[in-house]
Amino acid sequence: MPRLVVVSNRVAVPDTSGKSAAGGLAVALKEAFQSNRGLWFGWSGKVSAHPSATPRITDRGRVQYALMDLSSIDRQEYYNGFANRALWPTMHYRIGLSEFSRADYAGYLRVNRTFANALAHMVEPDDLIWVHDYHLIPLASELRALGVRNSIGYFHHIPWPAPEVLGTLPGSLELLRTIAEYNLVGVQTDRDADNLRRGLIQEAGASPIGPDRVGLGKLRTRVKSFPIGIDVNGFQQAARRPGSNRLLTQTAAGLGSRKLIIGVDRLDYSKGIPERMESFERFLIGNPDYRGRVTYLQIAPTSRSEVPEYATISRAVNETLGRINGSLGEPGWVPIHYVSNSYPRSILAGLYRLAQVGLVTPMRDGMNLVAKEYVAAQNPDDPGVLVLSKFAGAAEQMTDALLVNPNDRFEVAEAIREALQMGLEERIRRWEGLMSALRASDVTQWAATFLKDLKRSGSGAGVGRREGQEAAQ
Ligand code: UDP
Repeated sequence: MPRLVVVSNRVAVPDTSGKSAAGGLAVALKEAFQSNRGLWFGWSGKVSAHPSATPRITDRGRVQYALMDLSSIDRQEYYNGFANRALWPTMHYRIGLSEFSRADYAGYLRVNRTFANALAHMVEPDDLIWVHDYHLIPLASELRALGVRNSIGYFHHIPWPAPEVLGTLPGSLELLRTIAEYNLVGVQTDRDADNLRRGLIQEAGASPIGPDRVGLGKLRTRVKSFPIGIDVNGFQQAARRPGSNRLLTQTAAGLGSRKLIIGVDRLDYSKGIPERMESFERFLIGNPDYRGRVTYLQIAPTSRSEVPEYATISRAVNETLGRINGSLGEPGWVPIHYVSNSYPRSILAGLYRLAQVGLVTPMRDGMNLVAKEYVAAQNPDDPGVLVLSKFAGAAEQMTDALLVNPNDRFEVAEAIREALQMGLEERIRRWEGLMSALRASDVTQWAATFLKDLKRSGSGAGVGRREGQEAAQ
C-alpha cells in the first residue's frame, strides 16, 4: 500500500487518548489511515515571530503529523487576505464582497511555496498526495517545480463558480493553470465540475479529452464530483444518546408543546442567517396562529473575526434578531433564540432530533454537512422535515427536502409552514428518501472513492504520456 500524504490548511494533532473531538476530515480519513501509512502536513494554526522552514513532527501510531507555523504577515496575507477575503467570497458568488490585493495574493503564493519546499523533502516516490481546499490550489504546481512526480489529487470543499464569476478575480487565470498540475481534482457537485471544466477550457485554453478529463499542454487532469458525506451511523447513535449539556436540557424542558425549528451555521455571510430570520418573521406575520407555538433556535459560532466582512455580518444578524424579537415577541415567548457558542456534535445531534424543522438556507454552500446531520439525527418513527436551499451542494442529492430559494422570504416562509404542517406519512417517505441518499455516499466511502480514482489517474506532470492512452482510461 502506498503511503497517504494529506495536506490541509489547518492540522490538529490528536491527543494520545484518542478522545479529542475529531474534525470532519479526520473522521473521513480514519479508515484510509488504518490501511495506509500516513503523513498529514499543514499549518499548526500558530503564529510565530520566526517560523521554521521545516515542520515539527509528531508521531501518532501509523500517522505522522508535520506542522508548520506562519509569521503574522503570512497569516494576514495568505489566510485572512487572499484565501478568506478574495477567494472565499468569489467562490461563493459574492464578487461584491471580494477584496483583492496584490500583496495578499503574493503572500498566498509565498506560503504555498514555503509549504511545498518543506513537504518536498518528506515525499517518498510511491506516496499518494491528497491536497485539500482553496488555501492550497497552487501547491501541486510548486511541488512539480521541485521535481515531485507523484500522483497528486486536490479536493475543493467549497463551490467552484461559473467562469464568468471566477474570471472577475485577478490571479484566477493563473490558479486555473496551476490546477491542471493535479492528476485528479474533486469537487462537491456536478455543477461545480462543469464550471471548473468550462473554466479550464474557455479561460485557460485546455482541451476536453473524454467526459471528465482535460488536457493543457502536456498536463492531463481529471475533474469529477465526489459529494462529501457524514458518518451516518455515528450521527444516528449520537442522536439516540446525546451528551448532556445545559442548552440541550433547557431547550427540551422549555419547549412544552411548542415546536422547534433549528439552524446551525458558522457565522458567515454565505449561510444566509439574517435572510433566514427575515423569512421566519415573514412566516410569523403570515401565520399569526403560530405565534407562541414555535421557537426558532439559531446556533451560530463566530468565525474569522479578524476579517472585516465577518464583523459586518455579525452586526447585521444582531440587528435583525433584535428587531424581530422586539416586534413579535410576547411575554413568555421569544421567537428566535440565538447562541453564538460552538457545541460538540454529540450535543448538536440531540438538538437536531428535538427539532421538527431543520432550516438550512445558505445563499451558496459547497455541500453543507448540517443538512445531512439533521436528517441522520431524526427519529425514524417521527422524523422532522428538512428545508434546504437549492444553492447548497447538498441539494443535488437531497431532493426529498423542501427545496427553496433563500432570496425569496415568502417562499421560505411557505416552506416553514408546509414543514410544520406535514403529515407523518409524507415526513417518513421524505426522510427515507433522504437517508438512502446519505447512505449512498457516507464520509468513509467518499475518501475511499477519491483515493481509488486518484490511484487510477496516473502520476507525474503528464510529460511523455500520449493522448490516446489517456482518453482510453
Ligand atoms: N459544528 C459544530 N459545532 C457548532 C456548529 C457547527 O461542530 O457549534 C459543525 C457541524 O456539526 C458541521 C460543521 O460544523 O459538521 C459545519 O459544516 P458545514 O458543511 O455545514 O459548513 P462549513 O462551516 O464547513 O461552511
